[in-house]
Amino acid sequence: MSITTGTLRNWLRHAAALIHEQRDYLTRLDAAIGDGDHGVNLDRGFTAIVESLAQHHGGDAGTILKTAAMRLIATVGGASGPLYGTAFRRAGKLNEGCQSLDEHQVLAMLQAFLDGVSTLGKAHPGDKTMVDALAPAVEAYAQALSEQQSLAEALQRAAAAAHQGAAATIPLLARRGRASYLGERAIGHQDPGATSAALLIQALAEVV
Ligand code: ADP
Ligand code: MG
Repeated sequence: MSITTGTLRNWLRHAAALIHEQRDYLTRLDAAIGDGDHGVNLDRGFTAIVESLAQHHGGDAGTILKTAAMRLIATVGGASGPLYGTAFRRAGKLNEGCQSLDEHQVLAMLQAFLDGVSTLGKAHPGDKTMVDALAPAVEAYAQALSEQQSLAEALQRAAAAAHQGAAATIPLLARRGRASYLGERAIGHQDPGATSAALLIQALAEVV
C-alpha cells in the first residue's frame, strides 16, 4: 500500500475541512493561553491551500507539499504559520520527484514534518507545543511498522497517539510560544497547536 499524490491532495483538503469545522474550538483554546487566533489563522491558511490545489493540477508529492508550505507561510502568520510552513517544506523537499510514498517513505515524511517544527521552534516534548502531538505520532507510527502493521493501521495509531499527546498537554507548563508568558496560569488548558497538529495527523489517517 502507498500514498499517491491524489491521497496527499485529499489529505490537505480533508485537513482544511477538519480545521474549518474545529476553527472556533481551536480559537477558544488559544484564547485561554494565547491570543485567540489559532483557529482563524489556520482556517485562512488551509483555505488558501485548497484554492492553490484547485488551480494547479498534477505535480509530484514534493510540489504538492511545498505548495502547502508556501501558502501557510504567506497567509497564516503568528507562530504556527512559519512552524507548519517549515514542516511542510521539509516534507516536500524530501519527496521531490516522488509520485507515491510507501509506508517507510510516509515515516520519513512524518519525521521530516516533526523535524521542521522542532528545528525552527526549538521545542522539546513536554514543552506544551505541537511537538507534544507530533512526536508521539511519529513514535506510534514507527512502532506499528516494526510490528508489520499496514500503512492505514500505522496512521490510525499515529492519530490516536497525537490526540493523546494533545490531551496530555493540559497539566503542563508552557516553555515555548506565547503561552510560556503565563507561567502556571497555562496549567489546566490544552495546547491549541498540539490540538491542530493532531487534527492534521487524523486527516491523513482518515483519507488513507
Ligand atoms: P501565536 O502564538 O503567534 O498567536 P498561533 O496561535 O497560531 O500563534 O499558534 C500557537 C501555537 O503554536 C501554540 O499552541 C504552540 O503549539 C505552537 N508554538 C508556539 N511556539 C512554538 C515553538 N517554539 N515550537 C513549537 N510550537 C510552538
Ligand atoms: Mg495565537
